[in-house]
Amino acid sequence: MNTMIKNADILTMDDDFSILKNQVICIEEDKIVYIGEDEPFFFLPNRIINAKNKIVMPGLINSHTHCAMTLMRNRSNDLPLERWLQEGIFPIEANLTYRDVYCGAMLGIAEMIKSGTTAYLDMYYIHEASLEAIANTGIRANLSYGVSTSSRVKELGKQGAEKYCKNFLLSNKKAMKGRVNTSVEIHSVYLVDEPELVLSSQMAKETDTLIHIHLHETQSEVENCIKRYGMTPLQVCAKTGILNNKVTAAHTVHVNDEDMLLMKEKKVIPVHNPSSNMLLGSGFADIPKMIELGIKPALGTDGAASNNTLDMFKEMHLASLIHKGYKMDSSAINAQQVLCMATSSGAKALGFDDCGIIKTGMKADITIVNTDSLNMTPFYDPVSALVYSARAADVDTVLVNGEILMKDKQLTTIDEEKVKFDAAKSAARLYSTN
Ligand SMILES: [Zn+2]
Repeated sequence: MNTMIKNADILTMDDDFSILKNQVICIEEDKIVYIGEDEPFFFLPNRIINAKNKIVMPGLINSHTHCAMTLMRNRSNDLPLERWLQEGIFPIEANLTYRDVYCGAMLGIAEMIKSGTTAYLDMYYIHEASLEAIANTGIRANLSYGVSTSSRVKELGKQGAEKYCKNFLLSNKKAMKGRVNTSVEIHSVYLVDEPELVLSSQMAKETDTLIHIHLHETQSEVENCIKRYGMTPLQVCAKTGILNNKVTAAHTVHVNDEDMLLMKEKKVIPVHNPSSNMLLGSGFADIPKMIELGIKPALGTDGAASNNTLDMFKEMHLASLIHKGYKMDSSAINAQQVLCMATSSGAKALGFDDCGIIKTGMKADITIVNTDSLNMTPFYDPVSALVYSARAADVDTVLVNGEILMKDKQLTTIDEEKVKFDAAKSAARLYSTN
């Protein structure tokens, strides 16, 4: 299928941050094959998208979530992280079935596509159910699999689960025409013991996949780790070989100067989750300082149970404002830096080197945003408009791998009403047993 986007004002998100006006984008199958002012004679489109008066940008990338936790949206609020997990979330998760994870993932994916997100990094259970949802919807994702925290441990035993994990990581790497990637999940240094941390590190090396971990999220996580290991969680990661892999670390709220230098040296990609960190009272990650040091953070929503949406526009808005307020400095972070976190840096956090920017040769993961809403009028600077004024409802069209997943605000691969009905039914059953 050949797709042409006409009259496109493109925010490329490449290194020089070009904004190209009134362009034609040609997409052959899953790839961008041409960007220019004129329609090329060699290209015969099967379909044409008119992007007049809209912004064409790379799809947003949600670099840390637990997609199927949409089922637990608003189930447990106003509690600190430990009580939120132990009292609100774990008892429900203990009863999750394949069907529940599928319905929760479908709901999360529908919400993400509608709000302009084209890819996400997921840490959850019953991965096969998530894979089915990804296959059916067309979104891009990286699924993280825990060596022994997987839901297969009971059934297969520890060794069997390790073998299953390795097989899952290898067989789903670059699956579904490159839409799926895999990574090793380490939930956290506080839930996973030291031998397991070493094992996970080796597994990542053997399978050449990145590691996805929650790190330095709360003050108590760091204090308890120092009591247990005599060092911070990041230092434990260095000791156990984790940092010798590519690491995408969610939160990184409570990091001291030494930890931050370690992150820089080992090229750890921190994922900023401002909603979750504020909702759970965890604190403020010093993202401006990390950027100043040359670290390139990504952005994520975390699960919908601690956000409580999967809306990356809301997340960009918060990321752009909280640091200015907290530091009493309106230049602490700018809109361009926040957009990079949500696009090009996100692609790196997910281990995809062929999306996150709009350029010839890259995958066609594209979000097209209307500029004619009340909240976007008058329209001048697209960067400011996207970060400070845009809402999820302004998203008009979404493409992943060259496929149109939303057109004129209508999802093309998902029956929205059915998804809502099925998810509500799953949630009702889960809540009735708790
Ligand atoms: Zn999380």
